[in-house]
Amino acid sequence: AEEIEIMDAQTMRRALTRITHEILEKNDGTNNLVLVGIRTRGIYLAKRIAAKIKDFEGIDVPVGELDITLYRDDVHRVSDTTNQNPILHETNIPFSVEGKHVVLVDDVLFTARTIRAGMDAVMDLGRAKRITVAVLIDRGHRELPIKADYVGKNIPTSQQEQISVSIAELDGSEKVTLIKA
Ligand code: 5GP
Ligand code: MG
Repeated sequence: AEEIEIMDAQTMRRALTRITHEILEKNDGTNNLVLVGIRTRGIYLAKRIAAKIKDFEGIDVPVGELDITLYRDDVHRVSDTTNQNPILHETNIPFSVEGKHVVLVDDVLFTARTIRAGMDAVMDLGRAKRITVAVLIDRGHRELPIKADYVGKNIPTSQQEQISVSIAELDGSEKVTLIKA
């Protein structure tokens, strides 16, 4: 499969820096701001944003974690990217979300079923003032009326294409590539 580089380390760093400024601007600072990363890479990205907030404002913003994976029922073909059901495996949000602006952070936004499950998990914990969404990549193909509030880069993809997100903490390198089918 052909692989096309879409972001390098510098582009990713700039995108996360911009997203951080946008979050601070929209929220008017760090007041009542909390971040919740979604499973592996979203958690690392949420921690990166929190580190930048600490840099820019000198404030520690709480970072929670949700482990949500997509499960495709057996009725559907492996190549069928739709009809996936998100399963919430673990919630690690050791702070109150009551009255907070909760930013859900993930690496890639696709159908939005994962974000929807994340919203459900947060709403089960209490009444947040606001829930918004930050993603490094929006690859389109939404199946729910959910949009990202903060986007690193929009990458129109076909259903068959895949985005690969490598981050230093996990993959030893920083890049985003588009994998052609
Ligand atoms: P959705 O629930 O929006 O359909 O899919 C989003 C979730 O699946 C995210 O947690 C994301 O990590 C993963 N995902 C969906 N499509 C891709 C993709 O093309 N590349 C990567 N790396 N993750 C994807
Ligand atoms: Mg994911």
